[in-house]
Amino acid sequence: MKQTMIVEPSRALDVSDSADVVVAGAGIAGIAAALAAARAGASVLLLEDSFSPGGLATVGMVPEYLPIDDGRGRKVMGGITEELLHLSTANLPRELPEACFRRAPAVWLDKDATEEQRNGIRFKTAYNPATYVLDLEALLVREGVRLLYGTKVCAVIRDGDALTHLVVENKSGRSAIAGRAFIDATGDADVCFLAGEPTVSNGNNVPCGWFYSVRGDGSGFRIHHASHRFAEDPNDRDSAEGPFFRGDDAREITAQILASRDLIRGELAADCATLPDDRRQPINIASIPCFRMTRRLAGAVALRRADAHKQFPDAVCLAPDWRRPGPVWAIPWRCLAATHTANLTVCGRCASWDESAWDAMRVIPVCAATGEACGLGSALALREGAAPAAFDALRIAAAMRECGNPLDENLLTEKTAQ
Ligand SMILES: Cc1cc2nc3c(=O)[nH]c(=O)nc-3n(C[C@H](O)[C@H](O)[C@H](O)COP(=O)(O)OP(=O)(O)OC[C@H]3O[C@@H](n4cnc5c(N)ncnc54)[C@H](O)[C@@H]3O)c2cc1C
Repeated sequence: MKQTMIVEPSRALDVSDSADVVVAGAGIAGIAAALAAARAGASVLLLEDSFSPGGLATVGMVPEYLPIDDGRGRKVMGGITEELLHLSTANLPRELPEACFRRAPAVWLDKDATEEQRNGIRFKTAYNPATYVLDLEALLVREGVRLLYGTKVCAVIRDGDALTHLVVENKSGRSAIAGRAFIDATGDADVCFLAGEPTVSNGNNVPCGWFYSVRGDGSGFRIHHASHRFAEDPNDRDSAEGPFFRGDDAREITAQILASRDLIRGELAADCATLPDDRRQPINIASIPCFRMTRRLAGAVALRRADAHKQFPDAVCLAPDWRRPGPVWAIPWRCLAATHTANLTVCGRCASWDESAWDAMRVIPVCAATGEACGLGSALALREGAAPAAFDALRIAAAMRECGNPLDENLLTEKTAQ
């Protein structure tokens, strides 16, 4: 009879490293968290399963840094979120519309421009993912963040209500990494899930694979936004175009990648049919799965679309709507704090949003802002011997303001179209 389960023998693990703050996942959220914690004086170790920083925003070939303004002329995000936006095009020699390489609009770079002049012009960039990898990595190293690539978090060790170690696997084998505070920036809430935190998974991801190509003669460099239609509400299958996949199941991840690569092959074949002698060659395709919404924390609060313009007493950052001008959300610390694990916080696309808000919150700038809040919150709490998840959100908000993040209540009042 086929064996369906075996018992893995227990074994002692080396404690291979330690830091005050251990961040799992070096996507934009993890990068912002690591930078914020390091700047606040903590020793930081940033663990990354792949071999580059940036996650979907770089090796996922998603090169548009969506807006940090409300679409009505007001900047609602700053701090590391704005810093990483500027970094994204800092080394762009020239704009290339076809490749979607685009600097921030001049009206947002002119500090004397008025809200009226900025009204309707979104403060965003689009960049070269390869340049961004190099610049993000250099920034992390310069700021004293220790990186460990090729390192996957696969288990946690806890003592009472706190985590003591993350168990990782990499080329050196399986080992434990000790920390005082942990930040889940895996995009898939892996650490939360392993820690037994309540999570919610979504199975409605569609095939997609953005990629770059050139013509056979090396000309015509451009990006392709190859994707099936997806829905703002991840549970709304009627407005999306399947097949649908979960992002927390190895077989479904592989099936989604295969379907996405078929999409790429299809685009290339269509091009070949029109210009066979100069057919397009792909020059850069995603090297991680491109899932929009996979698994997230089900925290004490799950932010909803209906919470736009609502003030929360524990708000630590603001977020606009990348899809339309007007809405601004305050993000409560309770969306970022684990519920049963005192020293675990969560940032990026896997924080606690409900289905109605997930699509607005999963984007690069919101990942950066929530990352900065988690990094600052963890470092501040450790300094006082407190638990990050229950740390005073007003203190985190004050530190976020000091770091340049707008949190004024008047930004939460909807500004009407002019
Ligand atoms: C097709 C597509 C198009 C998009 N378009 C845009 C766009 O134009 N603009 C925009 O702003 N946003 C866009 N998004 C959304 C946005 O890119 C992502 O949601 C955002 O970049 C997520 O950042 P993150 O840091 O939360 O997670 P991720 O980018 O997913 O980073 C998580 C990192 O953690 C690592 N990791 C995962 N599990 C583990 C583990 N167990 N141990 C160690 N490391 C681990 C991963 O390798 C990865 O590097 C798009 C998304 C998709 C899929």
